[in-house]
Amino acid sequence: MEYPFVPSEDVEQAAVQALQMRGIQLEDIAQLTYFLQSPYIPDLTMEECVGSVKSVLRKREVQNTLLTGIELDILTEKGQLSAPLQQLIQKDESLYGVDEVLALSILNIYGSIGFTNYGYIDKLKQGVLERLNDKTTGKVNAFLDDLVGAIAAAASSRLAHRYRAELEQKPDTLS
Ligand code: MG
Repeated sequence: MEYPFVPSEDVEQAAVQALQMRGIQLEDIAQLTYFLQSPYIPDLTMEECVGSVKSVLRKREVQNTLLTGIELDILTEKGQLSAPLQQLIQKDESLYGVDEVLALSILNIYGSIGFTNYGYIDKLKQGVLERLNDKTTGKVNAFLDDLVGAIAAAASSRLAHRYRAELEQKPDTLS
């Protein structure tokens, strides 16, 4: 049996909707990007950060990663995984680590600045990440916190590359 292609627009729309369904607006992610990048880019605006987050979300790799991670959070919340994976994700077990590894596929796209930014923001639990890490809500956001941090870090890295290209008046190769 042949399966038809899933249209790209459907995947993009589903990824953004999945974020919103889990209580994340693009502005929440852009705020983290602003926090990370404003010390390095004079006059950086929230609007530019939102634009950068949108560009990251247009990448198919990012959309696929989001859909995969968020689905696992939702299934865990419903108690639908097999043991012991159900317990590992539900407890956000510190040795599990697949949530972080999945998020790396987002960072890969924009180079090494993304990795350091991601590690930094993951430790600080800045902005919306604090809410996502609140274990008292009954919500499972084991994957979502890393995905949001990685998108913000990637958007921040993208801005850094663009800013340098602008200063040197050269084309930005990463956009
Ligand atoms: Mg996590």
